[in-house]
Amino acid sequence: MKLGIIGTGYVGLVSGVCFAENGNEVICMDVDEKKIKRLKQGDPVIYEPQVKELLGKNISEGRITFSTSLKDTAQNSEVIFLCLPTPPYEDGSVDLSRVLDVSDKMAEHINGYKIIVSKSTVPVGTCDRIREIISKKTKHEFDVVSNPEFLKEGAAVNDFMSPDRVVIGTSSRKAAEIMRELYSSFMRVSERIIIMDEHSSELTKYASNSMLAMRISFMNEIANICELAKADIDMVRTGIGSDARIGNSFLFPGVGYGGSCFPKDVKGLISTSEEFGYDFRLLKAIDEVNVNQKLRFAEKILNHFKGNIKGKTIAVWGLSYKPRTDDIREAPAITIIKKLSEAGANIQAFDPAAMDNFREQFGKIPNLKFCKSNYDALKDASALVLITEWNEFRNPDIDKMKSLMKEHVVFDGRNIYKPELLKAEGFTYYGIGK
Ligand code: NAD
Repeated sequence: MKLGIIGTGYVGLVSGVCFAENGNEVICMDVDEKKIKRLKQGDPVIYEPQVKELLGKNISEGRITFSTSLKDTAQNSEVIFLCLPTPPYEDGSVDLSRVLDVSDKMAEHINGYKIIVSKSTVPVGTCDRIREIISKKTKHEFDVVSNPEFLKEGAAVNDFMSPDRVVIGTSSRKAAEIMRELYSSFMRVSERIIIMDEHSSELTKYASNSMLAMRISFMNEIANICELAKADIDMVRTGIGSDARIGNSFLFPGVGYGGSCFPKDVKGLISTSEEFGYDFRLLKAIDEVNVNQKLRFAEKILNHFKGNIKGKTIAVWGLSYKPRTDDIREAPAITIIKKLSEAGANIQAFDPAAMDNFREQFGKIPNLKFCKSNYDALKDASALVLITEWNEFRNPDIDKMKSLMKEHVVFDGRNIYKPELLKAEGFTYYGIGK
């Protein structure tokens, strides 16, 4: 099939290379000329496992091309995916300007039957709005479909190639059949396509992310109680996760969720609910707990030093919002590093993939230095603060840590270390919910 992808970021590029890999002819379009130039040369721009390899292979086999022309992309594609940013406004409502603007501009170039697919996460009713905008400018037949994306950064290619499910929201039988056909090559083992109406599909994405965010905030609250009650969150987690109705995934407490999706989508659903006259109180609490969890961790560090952290060196391991990505949008590291810097600490940070992004956006935070390796960050440090659980941080050389650090204190924001082991080596250990 001939496919167009508008917006070649995390979702657009992964979708593009995966559709191409499964034999489709894909044009990826973006307004960012520099990005398109790099992509044409096989440079994926983002850090995401497997993307570079798939990109190179599909460019050389001629199944994926890149363009800055909306016109060429729209005219040469049968199915056009909108993979555009939908960031939050200050009040939490969703900024749909790019999605609506591109729909308006694209409408002029429609030259035959097209399916316009929203892969962007958009509030209920957005497909109706896109349909209305396009119908004002074209006489050609077209359908607008909601097809929310559920990939996880860090495992995006695997998620796209073997999805748990593909949700397709459409009231057009013709569009549904074409979409089913397009995704059939991703369903070799079993059929996991769920077809529903547009509104239900749009809401499914927000409900999924909000449910996952709820599990995280819930576990963070339980962890906070554990600390006060001298209970161990790992024991509690194992105890509750063994209930088949609950399940044991997504039950890990930490320093709060971040990323481009959970914070934005929780706020987006609060705002959509308000538009419908509904006060979604639970969602507001999920968001509030999350904001507090990041601050609570920073306070734990400051409390250890009795507020006297000025001039001390603090090593930070991990800047991305989760491992195996360079994405730092809403990363807990931002809040925590800002708090430590405000208190006068010297921060020595290291991340395997996200340092360039962090330097570009937050390089001006006072007393923040970026290091060549995780051990380099430990030189003369009075504490190690582990924020992102990259695999390369899981089994550090304890002797090396001891010799590099000035004071032996570890704040483990992801509970990846064994407290007994570190304590036996003379470290003061702080975890989450322990
Ligand atoms: P992104 O910021 O990584 O990429 C968006 C791309 O769109 C950028 O390359 C940008 O240059 C381009 N763009 C902006 N305006 C444009 C325009 N007018 N015309 C053409 N291109 C334009 O965003 P993303 O993380 O890929 O997210 C895209 C959408 O997918 C969002 O709605 C997001 O909520 C949703 N989503 C993201 C993820 C994720 O893990 N990142 C997962 C599921 C869903």
